[in-house]
Amino acid sequence: MIHDIKVFNPQGELLKVINGQKQMDLHYSAIAKSIAQSNWGIAANKNKKNVICSICKKELEGTANQITCKSTKCLRERVKVRLRYVSSLKGKQILPFTNKIICKECGKTVMKQSARAKYCSKKCANTFTGRINRKKNREIRISIGGAC
Ligand SMILES: [Zn+2]
Ligand SMILES: [Zn+2]
Repeated sequence: MIHDIKVFNPQGELLKVINGQKQMDLHYSAIAKSIAQSNWGIAANKNKKNVICSICKKELEGTANQITCKSTKCLRERVKVRLRYVSSLKGKQILPFTNKIICKECGKTVMKQSARAKYCSKKCANTFTGRINRKKNREIRISIGGAC
């Protein structure tokens, strides 16, 4: 709290009383305004905008490309929503089975949606990658054994 400022003339007579608090408030709002208009103030406000979190709908000040309120809960939820969206897009895209591929596991010729498919089925893919992993593990074990 700032006390009132009493202004006296040289004769000691009270001329006027200035409301100190009010003057200070005016002073600070003027400073705040001039800072906001300076380059520094503009730069600080440039990327700031009101963002509504797409998950919890909370409104907050954030950057232009911000989607959530950045809480761990909402970020995690956002990833889930995004994944659901991507997989729903994949589900809608029905590609014709026009690519003839030879399964790397069982050698069967099958028609696939993707030309990059390597296996006739998930089962073959798992068997094949499982075999690679086992081989890799063995190699790692051997190299560790050799180093000892
Ligand atoms: Zn949120
Ligand atoms: Zn196969």
